[in-house]
Amino acid sequence: MATSPTAQAGQTGPQDASQLRLVDRFDRVATDLRVSLTDRCNLRCTYCMPAEGLDWLPGEEVLTDDEVVRLIGVATGMLGVDEVRFTGGEPLVRRGLTSIVERTRAAAPGAELSITTNALGLARTAETLAEAGLNRVNVSLDSIRPDTFAQITRRDRLHDVVAGLEAAAAAGLGPVKINAVLLRGVNDDQAAELLGWCLERGYELRFIEQMPLDAQHGWSRDNMVTADETLEALSAAFDLSPAEEPRGSAPAELFHVDGGPGKVGIIASVTRPFCGDCDRVRLTADGQVRDCLFARTESDLRTPLRAGAPDADLAARWVKAMAGKRAGHGIDDLGFLQPDRPMSAIGG
Ligand code: SAM
Ligand code: SF4
Repeated sequence: MATSPTAQAGQTGPQDASQLRLVDRFDRVATDLRVSLTDRCNLRCTYCMPAEGLDWLPGEEVLTDDEVVRLIGVATGMLGVDEVRFTGGEPLVRRGLTSIVERTRAAAPGAELSITTNALGLARTAETLAEAGLNRVNVSLDSIRPDTFAQITRRDRLHDVVAGLEAAAAAGLGPVKINAVLLRGVNDDQAAELLGWCLERGYELRFIEQMPLDAQHGWSRDNMVTADETLEALSAAFDLSPAEEPRGSAPAELFHVDGGPGKVGIIASVTRPFCGDCDRVRLTADGQVRDCLFARTESDLRTPLRAGAPDADLAARWVKAMAGKRAGHGIDDLGFLQPDRPMSAIGG
């Protein structure tokens, strides 16, 4: 009798590698892998990390290029992962990025490869990354006003982001998506302006609710700009109608703007969680599997990897790591505890 994928999630012994999938006890299957390539960053977004930065991971703890490529190969070759997103920290500051993309593409020719980036330096690297096999970019941009941008990121680099976006579009890394976080009293009056700017350039904008994942633990539910507030602000300037495509496991609720073809997305991670359809799994820069952004535990793949474990063993450990995935992030639960690592160290 064939072993059910759910039963596999509890096993550690030798298994038929061709049957493995990253299934949890709620029968959600993870096929979308977020790989953090570094916890370092060249911006200091106020909702992410403090002005002085953080205690970065020591170099020897960070997976080498070979190790990252090997683990991605296990995920795509043995565990059914078909989408890989490179993130961080800021993935563009990882020296081996182009080679990692190129080798991932060679190992997984059919996979969708993308990057989430602040776009600093993307103007120089977009074409090379496209040639290496990257499909798409998601760029984080919260304001198109230089002073607001500098207030949020603590760096005067808006021009670099704009140049990076243009280069990404020119290199064919589209559809170019932009992620924005609205902060009360800072840029929450600029939602419509940002959307107009993105529509003019053909970028697909998605607003993300701020989550309790900042290193300073400064998030408060009362101060968070909700998806409903964002929709209200956008509706004052544009005619929004729900897009027809089913949302599926995609976190963004999509709306046509002024009848289309332009679209805007709303990612209501806090007020309308989409955990029930989650298809994600994360690998941190130091080789820990996380089954959720908000997970309180991690599963170490780096130690067995460095001890010489074969691929089948790493795959079995990864399958087991998914078994404890919780039904939801629990932000609204009374006993909610923010994860020990901030978003920049987990890989956003
Ligand atoms: N440095 C890259 C960037 O900014 O795109 C990749 C890493 S960053 C942690 C990934 C995404 O997480 C960005 O879009 C950022 O805006 C978002 N982010 C960071 N902290 C957040 C928070 N507390 N709540 C919601 N989104 C957050
Ligand atoms: Fe850096 Fe991205 Fe965090 Fe901003 S959100 S500080 S760009 S890791």
